[in-house]
Amino acid sequence: MPYLSLEVGDLGTNCYLFFAAGSRHCFVIDPGAEAEKILARIAEARLLPQAVVLTHAHPDHLGAAAALVSRFGVPLWVHPADEKLMCSPAGRGLAAMFGVKAPAADRLLLDGDVLALDGLELKVIHSPGHSPGSILLYGDGLLFTGDTLFKNDVGRTDLPGGDEEELKRSLARIREFPAATVILPGHGEGSVLEIELKDNPYL
Ligand SMILES: [Zn+2]
Ligand SMILES: [Zn+2]
Repeated sequence: MPYLSLEVGDLGTNCYLFFAAGSRHCFVIDPGAEAEKILARIAEARLLPQAVVLTHAHPDHLGAAAALVSRFGVPLWVHPADEKLMCSPAGRGLAAMFGVKAPAADRLLLDGDVLALDGLELKVIHSPGHSPGSILLYGDGLLFTGDTLFKNDVGRTDLPGGDEEELKRSLARIREFPAATVILPGHGEGSVLEIELKDNPYL
C-alpha cells in the first residue's frame, strides 16, 4: 500500500504519508501535531514531501503543518471554505485553544481537482458537513476521509460551519465508491467501505 500512517497529538489524529512505489516523493496528509515525530518518520522512510494536504482545517489536523511547510519549503493545500474558516474569528479561537497557528494556504483545492504524484493521483472530493471545506482524497483504491467518516462513526457537526444535512449528502457520495475501497479516517482504525456499508449506522 502506498502510504504510511502515524498517530499524533492528544486527539490521536492520523497523519498519513502518501507516496508512489519506487518514489521518494510523498504528500503529507493532516500533520496534526508532534512535528518532530512526523519528521522522524519521514526521515526513516527516506521520503521527500512535495506538499502538505489538509482534509480540513481543524487545529488537530494542522498543528504541525507550519513546521513541515517551512522545513521542506513545500506548499499547503486546503479547500477554500476551510481556509476561510481557518482565518475567521471562530477558527482562530479554535486554533488558539490548541495553541496552534495555522499557516497560509498556497493552493485552494476544489471538488474534482487531481493531485498528481509520480504516476499516482489523488482526486479531491468536496465533502462538507463536519466542516464546510472538508474534502475526501481518493487514489489507488484508498479513500482518506478526514473527519467525515470514521470506522463505525461519522464526524461531529456541532463545530463552527458544521452541517448535518450536508454531512448526509457527503456520506451519500461515499456510498458510491467501489466496495473494496480502503477507508483511512482522520482518527482511529481504518476500514473497508464494504464493511462500513454493513456496520456503520450512518452509512
Ligand atoms: Zn475535525
Ligand atoms: Zn479531527
